[in-house]
Amino acid sequence: MAHVKLHIPGPVEVSEKTLQAFRSPMIGHRSQAFKDLYASIQPKLQQLLYTKQLVFLSTSSAWGVMEGAIRNLVAKRVLNCMCGAFSDKWHDVSKRCGKEAEPLQVPWGSPIRAEAVDKMLATGRFDAVTFIHNETSTGVMSPLEEFAALKKKYPDVMFIVDCVSSLTAVKVEFDALGVDVVLAGTQKALALPPGMTIFVCSKAALEKAATMKDRGYYFDFVEFQKNAEQNMTPSTPSIGHVYALASKLEEIFAEGLEARYARHRKTNQMIRDWAAKHGFTLFPEKGFESVTLTCINNGAKPGGRVIDVPKFQKLVREQGYQIDGGYGKIKGTTFRISNMGDETESSIAQLCEALDKAMAQL
Ligand SMILES: *Cc1c(COP(=O)(O)O)cnc(C)c1O
Repeated sequence: MAHVKLHIPGPVEVSEKTLQAFRSPMIGHRSQAFKDLYASIQPKLQQLLYTKQLVFLSTSSAWGVMEGAIRNLVAKRVLNCMCGAFSDKWHDVSKRCGKEAEPLQVPWGSPIRAEAVDKMLATGRFDAVTFIHNETSTGVMSPLEEFAALKKKYPDVMFIVDCVSSLTAVKVEFDALGVDVVLAGTQKALALPPGMTIFVCSKAALEKAATMKDRGYYFDFVEFQKNAEQNMTPSTPSIGHVYALASKLEEIFAEGLEARYARHRKTNQMIRDWAAKHGFTLFPEKGFESVTLTCINNGAKPGGRVIDVPKFQKLVREQGYQIDGGYGKIKGTTFRISNMGDETESSIAQLCEALDKAMAQL
């Protein structure tokens, strides 16, 4: 069957080059070859995250490390900042881990603002807070800098940040932000196959984790640190992912980080322009739109054009592209188009042409 190119917000399209690297012959995960491989990418991972801390590789999707962060860092009570399906779910996951947890819920489409977080943290009830930088379900990018700035006021609170659909597309300066955890699954903005998550912890997070009972083994942050010091992972990693990541990092630094960020802004603008041209409005509150995906309003909010989304998706698919029909409670009343990963102005121009054709057939 002909491959349908993915423009859903994850997994995204994986290039032939990355797939070639992914299928490299296996090596032992305790071998010198593996240690050399991990050691060779560690400085690039640190550069990507603007950090001096060691960057860890977890063989799991993002949820593994998201749950791990709760188990490693929440002793008292966690505040879950909620503005869409993924951030809402983190509250559910916190409770399932047996932790005391409180929601800070804003309407879907709105960002998380520091002022609201500040009010909650000021109660003194919390020793951790979860925050999703780019809420993939609503296409909202919450302002990370203003959130992170609160850390100075609440140094004992663990600031846990999900950058799954933003890392590598926008600058995330871990050390300068001063937050405690940043994590990103590989199948979104990194454009690798699903199944691995990269993450980094502050010294304070590692110290706190060491004091926590019941943090388990597979996602024990202390184990990740101990092993990373030897260029290893606690358990057998997906070695194919490490090769794919090495290949991707080479590409990322050949392009240059600033150029990569600019490319995402540009390709994202092209999709926003496409939406506007057809009379659509965007779902996110103005000024907080993601640059890695576009969540297009299709009746979820007043104003703008409304179409038959499943029919549109089918027409787009016939031209070789898969777009997303909306997530969770805004399925159908929104739809989403991703520009994450390797997309270029020319590939997005081709996509927009296909979208135009599909619109004409509706
Ligand atoms: C996709 C996504 C997740 C969950 O990732 P899994 O790979 O399903 O574990 C978490 N957070 C955000 C922002 C995401 O986009």
